[in-house]
Amino acid sequence: MYKAGVLFDHRATMKDSRLVYSSDPLANQKCPKCKELVSECTCPKEVDVKNYKFVAVLRMEKSGRGGKTVTVIDQLPKNEIFLRELTTKLKKKCGSGGTYFLDKKEGVIEIQGDKRELIRELLTREKIKSKG
Ligand SMILES: [Zn+2]
Repeated sequence: MYKAGVLFDHRATMKDSRLVYSSDPLANQKCPKCKELVSECTCPKEVDVKNYKFVAVLRMEKSGRGGKTVTVIDQLPKNEIFLRELTTKLKKKCGSGGTYFLDKKEGVIEIQGDKRELIRELLTREKIKSKG
């Protein structure tokens, strides 16, 4: 309706009808996660694993009431797909439970039990450097 009106009144409105279109496609892009405009989005940004140099840090922790030992793999890239896949491989390799977290700055994987040897083996096979 608005368009038809503009066409009908073409000459009269020509001078001052400045329809506003955003010429910047990025300005109208929406974040796939929160559906906010990208400029408004506060979602944590994921890193590109291929271009991310990192050294995974292994350490032991006691967790829970029973004080169960878990092997923590810290300083991993903050990328959910990468973490999910690596956690699955580690769980299979170690034959134990595990989980991953996206921390403020990086990704963290926890595998139940003292599995440092097996974890190191798998990380080496995955060409992931590690220490600890
Ligand atoms: Zn977002």
